[in-house]
Amino acid sequence: MLDKVSASPAIRGLYIGGRWVPAQRSFDDLNPSDNTLYARVPDGSRDDMTRAIEAAHAAFPEWSQRPFQERAKALLKVADVWERRKDEFIDAVVNEGGGWFGKGIFEAGFVAEIFRTSASLCYQSIGEVLPSEHGKVSMATRWPLGVVGVISPWNMPGILTSRGYAAALAAGNTVVLKPSEDTPYSGGLYHAEILEEAGIPAGVFNVVTCSRESVGEVGDELIEHPLVKGISFTGSTAVGRHIAAKAGAHLKKCCVELGGKDSMIVLEDADLDQAALAANFGSFMHQGQVCMSTEKLLVHDSVYDDFMQKFLGRAAKLKTGHTRDRDNVIGPLVNTRQAHRVKALIDDAVSKGAHVELGGRSWDNFVEPTVLSNVNSSMDIWHDETFGPVVVVCPFRNDDEAVALNNDTEYGLTAAVWTADEARALRLAGRLETGMVHVNDQNINDEPQVPFGGVKASGVGRYGGRWSLDAFTELRWITLERGGRHYPPVF
Ligand code: NAD
Repeated sequence: MLDKVSASPAIRGLYIGGRWVPAQRSFDDLNPSDNTLYARVPDGSRDDMTRAIEAAHAAFPEWSQRPFQERAKALLKVADVWERRKDEFIDAVVNEGGGWFGKGIFEAGFVAEIFRTSASLCYQSIGEVLPSEHGKVSMATRWPLGVVGVISPWNMPGILTSRGYAAALAAGNTVVLKPSEDTPYSGGLYHAEILEEAGIPAGVFNVVTCSRESVGEVGDELIEHPLVKGISFTGSTAVGRHIAAKAGAHLKKCCVELGGKDSMIVLEDADLDQAALAANFGSFMHQGQVCMSTEKLLVHDSVYDDFMQKFLGRAAKLKTGHTRDRDNVIGPLVNTRQAHRVKALIDDAVSKGAHVELGGRSWDNFVEPTVLSNVNSSMDIWHDETFGPVVVVCPFRNDDEAVALNNDTEYGLTAAVWTADEARALRLAGRLETGMVHVNDQNINDEPQVPFGGVKASGVGRYGGRWSLDAFTELRWITLERGGRHYPPVF
């Protein structure tokens, strides 16, 4: 156990049924910039999870039957409280998550918008009136699922946690959140503080934190408990597969947003200055720890040298180090395990012939922005999501080759295309196997009102806007017979 505490928040316990309750054990939550203790956090048990699920179930009838305008007002209040306290959140994501303060400012603003767009969903739970061969009134209607289990990652603990539950609450569900063990405060207990202050009724929103050692049994309880009707998961493909398989075995609805191995394609007629600027942001923002980070730069060979000169010139200016210094745009990887994993991917590529065009150095939890060329598919880095400040650059000769290189991955989250020819870009977009394509921009794009999600091993389902309602409601067909129905006379 560590004694040194850096800018620690007051941890009040697990949040179950509107009360702060202690757990029998705790675990250390570290500041990844220096591995000092950030907070000591409750290590919830399977029993704690059961209690949280029961509390959410008990709160469901009142919350789901509340007039939808009241749920909207409650979510707008959450947005206001969140906005008023956003400096605390920014401080938490810098110290607990190892993010640059600019990323914290962006994230804090985005979360408030997630609550506001979710409030608008309360007015959009729209069904349909269907034709009926019997002349009935035949309706497809939307209903909340019940208790929704939310499991969230650490890299964007504000956005990806709130995205997982805000629309679910809007639709009338109640929620049990299990945040990542790397950001149990900014991705979990802090949200409980905000929702409590905003007056969300007891039991509607519950948070159970736990350590990586406990997550197997605590997570299983959340997925398998019969009172939990839907699962909202954002995280790695490996864990997502496990969760989707378990949810499938219990025939539960499951929305999973997973990893990516995203390409940015630079065609020969692209604006190279803008493309280099975008590539620098897309590859290195938050140390490349974004599911949509640009991990492969595919560049037409006729502009390869020009592009590289511009791109490397920009990337070389990024400073790496402790996030207490705001000049360090590149902070640490989230933990020592991740830092070792990223370094191992670089070493594997270099040992198989990759050239280090920039960076390559690492120390403690830090990895410098690194650019590799001369890569090929024998290297782990060609296939595996790096989730670090590393990008590979690969030349291509024509559109077919660019499409093949983009699609040569099990993932399918986003793609980006740079060209002055919009028609050509749209033709290419139709051939790229991803859930999202951005023309003349880098890969990291999200807005709370769009259908966000991937194909292939990047996930199933969509978050955002009215598409969230598909994830967090079920359809019920209701008919109203008005006396015209004929049955066979033998009956
Ligand atoms: P992770 O899969 O290791 O963990 C995600 C969550 O799952 C955490 O809360 C973790 O505690 C929990 N978990 C782990 N094992 C579990 C189990 N057996 N049962 C229940 N829960 C369990 O992912 P991470 O390292 O937190 O996040 C990084 C990954 O998330 C990357 O692969 C990234 O691409 C992906 N991601 C995807 C999106 C998207 O929208 N597609 C967004 C952000 C991150």
